[in-house]
Amino acid sequence: MSNHKKSPIIGISANLLPIENGPFQGRERAAVVYDYVQAVKLAGGIPILLPIIEGEQAIQQQVDLIDGLLLSGGYDVSPLYYGEEPQRDLGEIRPERDAYELALIHTAYASQKPILGICRGLQLLNVAFGGTLYQDIPHALPTSLQHNQKAKPEEASHTVKLVEDSLLQQLMKTPSLLTNSYHHQAIKEVAPGFQVNARAHDEIIEGIEKIGNLFILAVQWHPELMMMKHPNMQKLFQGLVAATKHGGRSP
Ligand code: MN
Repeated sequence: MSNHKKSPIIGISANLLPIENGPFQGRERAAVVYDYVQAVKLAGGIPILLPIIEGEQAIQQQVDLIDGLLLSGGYDVSPLYYGEEPQRDLGEIRPERDAYELALIHTAYASQKPILGICRGLQLLNVAFGGTLYQDIPHALPTSLQHNQKAKPEEASHTVKLVEDSLLQQLMKTPSLLTNSYHHQAIKEVAPGFQVNARAHDEIIEGIEKIGNLFILAVQWHPELMMMKHPNMQKLFQGLVAATKHGGRSP
């Protein structure tokens, strides 16, 4: 059997969401917003969901199945993972998701799989490699812009300046972008080995990437929710899929 026509498999880390009513109320689903699935498929990848599991060997087997990893959005990251106690305005945390995805990131990195992080995915990636977060932007930086927009998810609400010659800027082929914004946390200290590739006008970090040849890139906004109305956002998913074929940076 020839492999050459197979599309790359992109694993999407699943969230843990309680069922809110009906006979199974209180049980939990492993789920992602469907837009992630559509974004990967549209970019030429085969999306599969990666549910939270325990065990180093089991997680390694999940990683062996995939060609690239997409870290989805969700809950706040526990500040204990970056050496802080919870402040008053920390949102809901799910330590089991943190533990799983941190192991997933380290395993995927050790296996040299390209990674795209979105929103929480950016924050967790930064923490996984030794960076820190602001637990709540309005509390930490009272003069910051609105990063938790009231507009619909497909609408852009603030400007993001891209860093020249960054992988992100090469991918998007523009000096600045308009993005949506659904975060109350942000990167404080960038992880060693990473560089900032995007900032809002209040200097909040909106994107990072790992220095080196492997595609490890993350953004603070939600391109999957924008991509039907703003097709330029598809380039992020195309970049991840392309990296699975080239074993490194996007061509
Ligand atoms: Mn923002």
